[in-house]
Amino acid sequence: MRKANVNKKRCVACGECAYTCPKTAITVKNGCFAIVDAALCVGCGLCAKACPADCIDIMEEVHHEK
Ligand code: SF4
Ligand code: SF4
Repeated sequence: MRKANVNKKRCVACGECAYTCPKTAITVKNGCFAIVDAALCVGCGLCAKACPADCIDIMEEVHHEK
């Protein structure tokens, strides 16, 4: 499944993504950067569209075993 991934270096902790997410999968950690709860994220991409810093990518979840 596709999941949102935040580039923490570019995130300005504005909270737009958390406000936009229909699954409340994003929290802004200590006013520093946004973190996505992959268990809640459905990969809809709304957060990526809302982010003014363009720091969210929607990507395939990484699986370590094959
Ligand atoms: S992709 Fe959708 S469900 Fe996932 S964090 Fe972004 S807005 Fe929320
Ligand atoms: S919208 Fe973008 S810049 Fe703002 S808190 Fe979310 S990831 Fe960070």
